[in-house]
Amino acid sequence: MADLTGRSIIGSQAGGGGEPSIFGINPATGESLQPGYAAVSESELDQAAELAADAFEVFGKSTGAARAAFLREIANNIEAIGDDLAKRAPQETGLPEGRIRMETGRTCGQLRLFASVAEEDSWVDARIDHADPGREPVPKPDVRSMERPLGPVAVFCASNFPLAFSVAGGDTAAALAVGCSVVVKAHHSHPGTAELVGQAVSTAVRDCDLPEGTFSLLYGPGRETGSALVRHPAIKAAGFTGSRAGGQALMKLAAERPEPIPFYAEMSSINPVFILPGALAERSEQLATGLHGSMTLGVGQFCTNPGLTILDGNADIEPFVAKLAELVGGSPGATMLNPGIHSAYGSGADALGRNEAVERVALGQAEDSQCQAGAALFRTSADAFLGDESLASELFGPSTLVLTHDGTDKMLALARSLEGQLTATVHGTEADLEANRELLDVLEGRVGRVVINGFPTGVEVCHAMVHGGPFPATSDGRSTSVGTRAIHRFTRAVCYQGFPDALLPVELQEGNPLGIRRMIDGKST
Ligand code: NAP
Repeated sequence: MADLTGRSIIGSQAGGGGEPSIFGINPATGESLQPGYAAVSESELDQAAELAADAFEVFGKSTGAARAAFLREIANNIEAIGDDLAKRAPQETGLPEGRIRMETGRTCGQLRLFASVAEEDSWVDARIDHADPGREPVPKPDVRSMERPLGPVAVFCASNFPLAFSVAGGDTAAALAVGCSVVVKAHHSHPGTAELVGQAVSTAVRDCDLPEGTFSLLYGPGRETGSALVRHPAIKAAGFTGSRAGGQALMKLAAERPEPIPFYAEMSSINPVFILPGALAERSEQLATGLHGSMTLGVGQFCTNPGLTILDGNADIEPFVAKLAELVGGSPGATMLNPGIHSAYGSGADALGRNEAVERVALGQAEDSQCQAGAALFRTSADAFLGDESLASELFGPSTLVLTHDGTDKMLALARSLEGQLTATVHGTEADLEANRELLDVLEGRVGRVVINGFPTGVEVCHAMVHGGPFPATSDGRSTSVGTRAIHRFTRAVCYQGFPDALLPVELQEGNPLGIRRMIDGKST
């Protein structure tokens, strides 16, 4: 395995070796993993942010081709350490090697997808309105605009995706693709994995001759290092995946800065699954098996975990519930990511079980050992759910709450009562779906992605994906953290009026030397 240094990466330098305070913990054994990582000092954080600002002056003006080459180099470097990652990441996260290898592939695929977008360059949304000096009563000026990178971006690693939403994950790839330098705050849960990927990115910075501050990786507690990073005047935007409490604390800091910045947090979602009567009658067992697979995937530690399943009590629901209970009861225990997440799942599940309006239908097997969690199936009524907002909170882990209602009006009331969600899923026959168009309309207003006859887990990384949604699913329902639309988190439109051709960005020059797609005088070309 590549040598782990226990140091932050500050531009091209290793951070100072203070007293190590952050250790990876093997969640399966409780063993503390070496090396320990020291938190960065205030001056090191300042240095990383200032280097990122300096690097932005150059990297922000680099060509799409140069950024594409850089992103591909990062992907190649990560692939080259695939075996090291497959060894270290499972030790730190409890995730199986196969999942880590898959996530490594997804991370590299994501980087290459963003490389193709950087190279193709149409993301700049170039618009040209030609001058009309003869227009009456006033001449029309030459006005052109395009998207430009925002500046240095802070990225918070997610505990539940040590690769795809961490050091070189979606936020980093999106920011680098448009020319934003990146300062990453590592998650305490997988510090060694973060360093391995950080070294891969750092090597690519050097080999692509980019300014050293294009990338830094900082270790330290969220309340200090993370907060200071979001407050740093050089940082112009931030991306985050994690808890609602952590996300909201950082959102507030971002908004209260002397210069407020966009803060993109993905926080909490219970991803309701509506099963309509026709579908239930047609394929009850298949639905129970599919739902069980989705709710237990990755020990339920996905932001798209289906935490709420909504059934029409007028239909024959018992075979479905019985099958799901059988599957949940037979599920083996599995190791969760870290003691904090394990204990939050345990106390959340206990609280649900103690709620008088909730029936604990089935519990999976879990050994009483370090971080082992068992699947859980709960059941309640629509009225109980509507009267107790605690039932609508995210329970991060392998569980779902089955809820029965007494017909369309109550189902629509339930849908309308939901907070913003990443996803909503509807299972229905053609006739079900036709008869429930209003449900689809209501859901469209509350979620980032509506899924028909599928399951919410397994988010495709592609151009059309939206992995976002109204608050509290995210802090800004206009954006996505997965897919190439994510680049617009880190851009802003700039307008150039009356510019001589030679002084315009190349994307806006009259001859279109890059041959990109543009809108000219209102027509797409
Ligand atoms: P977290 O506690 O919110 O931590 C995420 C990051 O934010 C970490 O770097 C953390 O720093 C930092 N942070 C947390 N609170 C902060 C604060 N008040 N001020 C500044 N920085 C702060 O999330 P987590 O560790 O990934 O998991 C905890 C819970 O979050 C889970 O049990 C689950 O409920 C939820 N979660 C949800 C999703 C989702 O996608 N919906 C994904 C993951 C987790 P440290 O390194 O110091 O902790």
